[in-house]
Amino acid sequence: MTSQFSTYVIAEPCVGVKDATCLEVCPVDCIESADDENQYFVDPAICIACEQCKLVCPVEAIWLDVDVPSHFRTYIEKNADFYRKTKGVPMPVPIEKALTMIQAGHSKALEMDIAVSVAVVDEGGRLVAFGRMDRARPMSVDIAVNKAYTSASFQVPTTQLQAQSGQSWFQSMIVSTQGKIMAAGGGLPVLDSPNIIGAVGVSGGTEEQDQECARAALAAY
Ligand code: SF4
Ligand code: SF4
Repeated sequence: MTSQFSTYVIAEPCVGVKDATCLEVCPVDCIESADDENQYFVDPAICIACEQCKLVCPVEAIWLDVDVPSHFRTYIEKNADFYRKTKGVPMPVPIEKALTMIQAGHSKALEMDIAVSVAVVDEGGRLVAFGRMDRARPMSVDIAVNKAYTSASFQVPTTQLQAQSGQSWFQSMIVSTQGKIMAAGGGLPVLDSPNIIGAVGVSGGTEEQDQECARAALAAY
C-alpha cells in the first residue's frame, strides 16, 4: 500500500499477453481494456494502490507510477489516455491548439505594435507551450506562465482576482507559490464547457493590451 495520490500502471510486458489474471484480484474493478487494445490499463482515478495486481502478474507488467522504469514511462500517459478516451474525460489543451493560440496572441500584439510572450498551460497549471516574440523582454515569459497558472488554478480570468489580491490569504498564496500566483490582467481560462482544460497568459504590454492578446489567443482555440 502507498500514498493515495499514487496509482499503478500497466506497461509493455502486458502487450500480447493480456491474460486477465490481475482483473481477478483488483478489489475496485479498475482494470479494463477494449477489443482493439492489446493490453490492459489501470484507471488512475479509481486505483487504491493496493498492489494486489502487481503481485499476481506473471510478466511483471505492473508498476507503481513513481517506480515505473524509464523505458516504460510513456505507459503512465498511455493508461491515463485510455480512460480519457473511454470515459469522455476532457483532454487538456492539445499542443497543436496551444501553438495556434500563441500565434494568434502574437498577431494581435503585432497589430498593437507591442512584443509579448504568450504561455498556455494545462488544467493543472503545467506548461504546455510558450512563445516569446523577438522584442519581448525575457521576464515576460515567466510572467505569462504565472498569469496562465493563476487563471488555471482559480479557474477565472486573472482580472477577477484583483479585488482579493490585498487580502492576507491571497498574500499567503503568493508566498507559498513563490510568486506564481499573480492577479495582473492577461490570464484567461480555457474551457471545454463545463470543464476547465487549461489557461492562457500574456505579458509584455499594459494589462489591457495583455488581456486583448489573451482574448485573441483564446478566440483561436
Ligand atoms: S493496485 Fe489494487 S486497486 Fe490498483 S489496479 Fe492494482 S489491484 Fe486494482
Ligand atoms: S496480469 Fe499482467 S499480463 Fe495479465 S493482464 Fe494483468 S497486467 Fe497484463
